[in-house]
Amino acid sequence: MIYLTGDVHFSNLNNHEQKIIGSEIDSAEKYLNILKKYKLACTLFVNGISLQKEPDKIKELLKYNVELGGHTYDNFGKMNLLKSYFYRKKWGSIYGSNHYQKKDITKTKKAFEEFGLKMTSWRTHAFGSNDLTFNLLKELDVKYVSDLVGDIKPFYKEVMHMPINIPIDQNTIAYGMLKPENRNPFASCTKCRIKAEEWFDILKKRVIENEKNKIPSIILIHPATMMVLDNFKLFEEICKFLSKYKSFKISEFKL
Ligand SMILES: [Zn+2]
Repeated sequence: MIYLTGDVHFSNLNNHEQKIIGSEIDSAEKYLNILKKYKLACTLFVNGISLQKEPDKIKELLKYNVELGGHTYDNFGKMNLLKSYFYRKKWGSIYGSNHYQKKDITKTKKAFEEFGLKMTSWRTHAFGSNDLTFNLLKELDVKYVSDLVGDIKPFYKEVMHMPINIPIDQNTIAYGMLKPENRNPFASCTKCRIKAEEWFDILKKRVIENEKNKIPSIILIHPATMMVLDNFKLFEEICKFLSKYKSFKISEFKL
């Protein structure tokens, strides 16, 4: 059982990867095109603002076998190191106060509804959620959350948790122009990275192990990262491998 997911950010964030590839939604379309070839389903978590500011591009994505989930409205708005430090210190999470989180999730949900979509699943940008987030998501009728990372099976607590149980591409691979100073300061560690091929070997072993133990593999592979890495060459290999297994969208999961 494969639950492949990707995070797709609004085009104007001007992060390190966007400077190289341009629109993340365009790379998401290439990603979905490859998935189509290998008959794989997936879930893409997108910023609410993209549904309002880039609706035509989002519509293109919906031609594929994909579920769109929420990924905060716009990556916490204008965030800087000081603010993220303050939020973590005061609220124990980069996502800030209950008030801010509620406003942000509601705004994202509304963007989905105005677009004609129901926001059933969610991943907080930079996994910046805490218990407040899960309670709010429950209150706002978002049923599936994929924010936890580690060797954890899906479980239900307020919402259905779908932990990412395979090492994440962006946090693991050393690639191209990656420099510590270009990294999002709160997203991940920039040290101890490995070659993309080594990461793929680990992914394969973990998926095979999970299949043997009947544990769903919940995978996060970013379209932007795959494009920056080698213009989807490795991703095509990954899809070829994953196509041996049944794949589902996040909200198709049942305990
Ligand atoms: Zn993100």
